[in-house]
Amino acid sequence: MKPPPFGYHAPGTLGEALDALAAAPGGKVLAGGQSLIPLLNMRLAAPSDLVDINRVAELDTLHVGDQGVRIGALARHARVERSAEAAAVQPLLGRALRHVAHPVIRNRGTVVGSLAHADPAAEMPAVLAVLGGTVEAASARARRTIPAAAFFRGPLESALEPGELAVSAFFPAAPPRTGTAFAETARRHGDYALSGVAAVVGLDEDLRVASARAGFLGIAPTPLVLDLTGAAGPRGDWAAAAAHVRERIDPEPDIHAGADYRRHLTGVLAERALNAAAAEALRRAED
Ligand SMILES: Cc1cc2nc3c(=O)[nH]c(=O)nc-3n(C[C@H](O)[C@H](O)[C@H](O)COP(=O)(O)OP(=O)(O)OC[C@H]3O[C@@H](n4cnc5c(N)ncnc54)[C@H](O)[C@@H]3O)c2cc1C
Repeated sequence: MKPPPFGYHAPGTLGEALDALAAAPGGKVLAGGQSLIPLLNMRLAAPSDLVDINRVAELDTLHVGDQGVRIGALARHARVERSAEAAAVQPLLGRALRHVAHPVIRNRGTVVGSLAHADPAAEMPAVLAVLGGTVEAASARARRTIPAAAFFRGPLESALEPGELAVSAFFPAAPPRTGTAFAETARRHGDYALSGVAAVVGLDEDLRVASARAGFLGIAPTPLVLDLTGAAGPRGDWAAAAAHVRERIDPEPDIHAGADYRRHLTGVLAERALNAAAAEALRRAED
């Protein structure tokens, strides 16, 4: 299949990219192209213009600091996945990225592109949501910071307005005595998950559970985040937390899995991920 005709722009700076988007209200950003090109070829998308950001070197950034990891719009999945500095500050990133498609796709696809694409079956939106991260958006007129809770509006729908480009995404650092884990089940490794869970568990100074959260992919129209602190209790009853998850979710059936199976699977994955996150929190607390 061939894409419908479109105007093509290859800006060399962020300013030029924003000007090109402002001049083309029906235009779209082209980053890694791993989701957009198939949509164009199948004629499921027909933007008037493509603004290709691959020559905008100032967007090819990965900043790691005490507060967290800021990922520029042109940083590929593979770069973030392999970054030891990023893993030291927020290990959930690399853990989840290893489940994103296949290595060739991760060599080209971008983390920020995955967030902008807002696929509810994708890993990075759930990770941003459970960590309470943000997306920095810019247009020719203004800049704004969008919290994850407001960024994902529906399947393949983000809060980005026409003319806006997601410049970077910020993933907060893991606080002390905190552990993370990621678990998903796909029919084949590299496929989109039937269900997936990103878990974050924090302990207090007496090593009791102070917070337990889980972000879910593949079971709702947007990434779903549940606070499981109360359900798990201070001693971390992860089976009770998983039972709470099963009660709270309302997964849709599709050709790959029925609703009951998805509900059961999500509970199993949640218990496993919360357990692993709690074990890591304990290890970090005892270091
Ligand atoms: C076979 C296959 C399997 C895959 N499996 C998975 C998987 O298991 N999990 C997963 O998460 N993903 C999967 N993907 C998608 C892949 O991870 C993509 O890399 C990702 O979804 C989009 O990143 P991209 O940089 O390629 O974006 P593009 O395809 O270039 O763009 C995607 C969308 O986001 C918009 N966009 C991109 N960047 C920006 C920006 N900076 N500002 C504003 N809008 C922007 C585009 O306009 C477009 O609408 C798969 C892809 C393929 C082809």
